[in-house]
Amino acid sequence: MSDTTRTLQEYDRRYLWHPFTQMKEWEKTDPIVIERGEGSWLIDTDGNRYLDGVAAIWTNVHGHCRREINEAIKEQVDRLEHSTLLGLTNDKAALLAKRLVDIAPPGLARVFYSDNGSTAVEIGVKMAFQYWQHLGRPEKQRYISFRNAYHGDTVGCMSVGGIDIYHEVFRPLLFPTIQAPSPYCYRCELCAERDADRCGRQCLQELERLMAAHTHETAGLVIEPLVQGAGGMIVQPEGFVRKVRELCDRYDILMIADEVAVGFGRTGTMFACQQEGVTPDIMALSKGITAGYLPLAATMTTEKVYNAFLGEYRELKTFFHGHTFTGNPIACATALASLDLFASDRLLEQLPAKIDYLRQRLEPLRELDHVGNIRMCGMVGGIELVRSRETREPYDWEERIGVRVCLEAQKHGLFLRPLGNIIVVFPPLSISLEELAFLMDGIDASIRAITG
Ligand code: PMP
Repeated sequence: MSDTTRTLQEYDRRYLWHPFTQMKEWEKTDPIVIERGEGSWLIDTDGNRYLDGVAAIWTNVHGHCRREINEAIKEQVDRLEHSTLLGLTNDKAALLAKRLVDIAPPGLARVFYSDNGSTAVEIGVKMAFQYWQHLGRPEKQRYISFRNAYHGDTVGCMSVGGIDIYHEVFRPLLFPTIQAPSPYCYRCELCAERDADRCGRQCLQELERLMAAHTHETAGLVIEPLVQGAGGMIVQPEGFVRKVRELCDRYDILMIADEVAVGFGRTGTMFACQQEGVTPDIMALSKGITAGYLPLAATMTTEKVYNAFLGEYRELKTFFHGHTFTGNPIACATALASLDLFASDRLLEQLPAKIDYLRQRLEPLRELDHVGNIRMCGMVGGIELVRSRETREPYDWEERIGVRVCLEAQKHGLFLRPLGNIIVVFPPLSISLEELAFLMDGIDASIRAITG
């Protein structure tokens, strides 16, 4: 290990506070210090290469340091680094808004920018709230959310979240929501079958019951379409999102789709909602929007919602929300370059072969003694490790089985980050089939080594 690496590790341990990290433990480690990226690979200060199995926390699309995106950024930096959308517009923000409307589910016609996934959702929640005020239905103030949901870390996003370990400590600070069961078939709380193919969709029945009971007071329903990400890569049964859309229409509730993690090709289509032919009323985007390069987010909505905010100045129908870096031109130029690459690389057309291969490699893992459930949706995989396959008994949290598998994977040249006992597969979409084979070989070997 070089002296530079040692110094950087020391600075990190002494001065940095890492997110979602127990720092007492972290301070005892020698963290890998990444200084370069190349395609699907991250390279540390000593030249070691790691295949990025989590796509820079679920954001990277075209690989690290893509020449075309780097050039677009350099060009933009030399023209304009930032101005404002308060009283001005800029070329890249306007061009990107048009492009997003062109590719979004039909009917999503307006783009409100912010700069991270949490704010994209928070804006959706606030928009839905104010929308009903303007429609003369001020009693519609509540939200339906799902257990195991994750929508970000702001107070509003935590309120509509449903992961106790992250949210419980803040509970007194959060507004209460109407919580619907998670469509987590493997650990279903409602159906004894605990099997997506055989269940009677009790979760949807319960959702409908809640919606019917609370329709008069509910502004919006917040959902991660197709996959609940941070909750454990929980894949919804087919038709779930479509049914949620139908129910939102029936009970007059705005559907807020959080596509922060699944947007921009991750599930095999540009947006997850498109797989079920659904247009939400509000859609939150971030992460993949700049292909994982820069902070940018967009909350898209329909003309119906937008029009409810039009009024005379003194009517106070304005949406009083905005962030300093809203519509930042460097970030918007990056997003435009990424969309160009989607087209020139024919990225979406390449995905079915990769998705098929990923499925072929995930399926046999079911045979391993401590693999309880394999979930997959597009280029997302979740491997749930259990103490007992028969009883589905989970490993205790303290055993840190997921962390141990991921540390083992580093010996195989992979960087992975688990969600508790779930090993997450979430590579850059540009990954080659050879690299995907390398990733799955390493995951297979690491699970075998740790779970015996
Ligand atoms: N929604 C979903 C579905 C997410 O996965 C995340 C981040 N993992 C967020 C919102 C929050 O995004 P950010 O971390 O950029 O605030």
